[in-house]
Amino acid sequence: MQTEQEIKELMCDIGRRVYNRGMVAANDGNFSVKLNEEEILCTPTGVSKGFMTPEYICKVNRKGEVLEANGSFRPSSEIRMHLRVYDKRPDVGAVVHAHPSFATSFAIAGIPLKQPIMPEAVIALGEVPIAEYGTPSTDEIPDRLEKYLPYYDAVLLESHGALTWSSDLLAAYMKMESLEFYAELLYKATMLGGAKEFDQEQVTKLYEIRRKMGLTGRHPADFVGQQIPGSEQTGTARNIMDELADKVAEKVLAKLNAQK
Ligand SMILES: [Zn+2]
Repeated sequence: MQTEQEIKELMCDIGRRVYNRGMVAANDGNFSVKLNEEEILCTPTGVSKGFMTPEYICKVNRKGEVLEANGSFRPSSEIRMHLRVYDKRPDVGAVVHAHPSFATSFAIAGIPLKQPIMPEAVIALGEVPIAEYGTPSTDEIPDRLEKYLPYYDAVLLESHGALTWSSDLLAAYMKMESLEFYAELLYKATMLGGAKEFDQEQVTKLYEIRRKMGLTGRHPADFVGQQIPGSEQTGTARNIMDELADKVAEKVLAKLNAQK
């Protein structure tokens, strides 16, 4: 069992990793750890997460009210998004929010990460949907995030960034790393002419491996055959281009018909 001080030190260490890997710019990003059912430790707003020391870390209750904050440090304004995850997922012990460039580019382009292209990404994440855009610091983000929480451990936040969660901080951070690596590979493979996707049989085998590994958390593999939020989202730039082409064709036909 880690002490509160050890958890604060780990939060600073994760801050350095997130910053040094370019997963955030300037003072962006935030993460939190559930200490117990009443208390949450969280990173402060307005500071670079790459240069924190333990006294920077703030403590809030489940309503987001400040319990502890040294000097001028104040909890991240995005804490509401974290609290919603803890409310809806009692199994979660830590939440990480960052803006890693490849994953965030997909979030900005409105393309969810759904193509099964490499075993590790399929086993760790499965699919990553996009939660509809919400204004930061308001309840819009937690409200739009909520429907995905029971089914996934990672989401893209439309036109914003990414959010991951897990049983502890290291695991939640690792999910963010896996998510960004998956997005980077998908982007690069698309630039090379398109990723070669696994077929359904290959995906089923990987899902089976995940089950045998006894991995915790939620994953699309646990809901095969069910309609879950995000399953209607299309995952490829090509699909999106096809949809766009269909819409243009519809409009042209409508105009031609009107001219007749
Ligand atoms: Zn953000």
